[in-house]
Amino acid sequence: MKAVAVFPEEHALRLVEHREPAILAPGDVVVRVLDVGFCGIDREIASFRTGMPPADSPYLILGHEALGEVVEVGSAVRRIRPGDLVVPTVRRPCRHETCRACRMGRPDFCLSGEYTQRGIKGAHGFLVERFSDDARWLQPVPRELRDVGVLTQPLALAETAIAELEQVQKRLPWAALGETGGSGKRAVVLGAGPVALLGTMALIVRGYKVTIYSHGGRSGQGGGDGGRSGQAEKGEFAESLGAQFVRAEEEKLDSLVDRTGRIDVMLEATGATPEALAAMEQLGRNGVYLMTGIPGRRGAFTLDAGHLLHGMVQRNQVIIGPAHPSAEVYRAAIQDLALFSRRWPGALSRLISSRMTIDEAPQAFRKPAAGLKQVVAVAD
Ligand SMILES: [Zn+2]
Ligand SMILES: [Zn+2]
Repeated sequence: MKAVAVFPEEHALRLVEHREPAILAPGDVVVRVLDVGFCGIDREIASFRTGMPPADSPYLILGHEALGEVVEVGSAVRRIRPGDLVVPTVRRPCRHETCRACRMGRPDFCLSGEYTQRGIKGAHGFLVERFSDDARWLQPVPRELRDVGVLTQPLALAETAIAELEQVQKRLPWAALGETGGSGKRAVVLGAGPVALLGTMALIVRGYKVTIYSHGGRSGQGGGDGGRSGQAEKGEFAESLGAQFVRAEEEKLDSLVDRTGRIDVMLEATGATPEALAAMEQLGRNGVYLMTGIPGRRGAFTLDAGHLLHGMVQRNQVIIGPAHPSAEVYRAAIQDLALFSRRWPGALSRLISSRMTIDEAPQAFRKPAAGLKQVVAVAD
């Protein structure tokens, strides 16, 4: 069967003929892949800057954002049946007996760092016609989310940060009075790519007033910010959600704060650009800065850390790093996709800018990002 694979040694990316998956353990499930989304990490793997094939393979099959349909289940699988739609999680446990996190089925908190990530590090991804996996790494998706379920993984990235935000905000004295949600609070989302827009939706349904603050006009950004016309489209999309959209070229963040008031939460969804990190200076007292990107992956940059950390301590702020989503967060994200579909009919489909066949995929990885989320429709 067909798969899209990267060969790091020979610096090649192409379709390969991969062996069919099989049920090897009673807990295994075989999944027919329907949709695979791709993002900045895939582009970095496709340009050989990151990504690691499994130990026994010269190539790595790409794809970590997937939706599929179950075709076969092992004898011990109860929760999932053939015909069900599922989204696979990405991270798998390390082998260390001493890693409590992985031994508890929580590789999102792996202690050894030797976890694998499907489609990224040491394990094949989902850009293939069929794959097998243990049922516990597959989350069921209702049939009505067939067309947008592929957005679960990027939404789960934003929701992991938001779930941690909710934990941290329990420290506030008024949390004991039941004031824990986003009601009356202001969030600024930095970036305007799929994670930013999905994160905006997640914050709005939790009661936050959201402003999307985007540095536009530069291509090749992690958020796929596109050009000026792309910005206009994103601005219109943001407003249809009930969020404000501000281009960094048109208003400085300090003037935005003067105009709209204290920022309680910043959600960084730019791939951690220097501008997005420097924006921390405008975060309000007791504020929380949520990161979904990994700083420095595109090269070193300089920030005045002393100044930023001084402000952080003075203003009692917290930075939360890019934790990996747990299975529980995936389940919450699937529920939220259903909620978003009811609240904003058609909006999620608009986040998917194009669908291509698996044969077209190797070419597409080499081109700059086009629009928001590009999806490979592996099967109907
Ligand atoms: Zn991704
Ligand atoms: Zn581990």
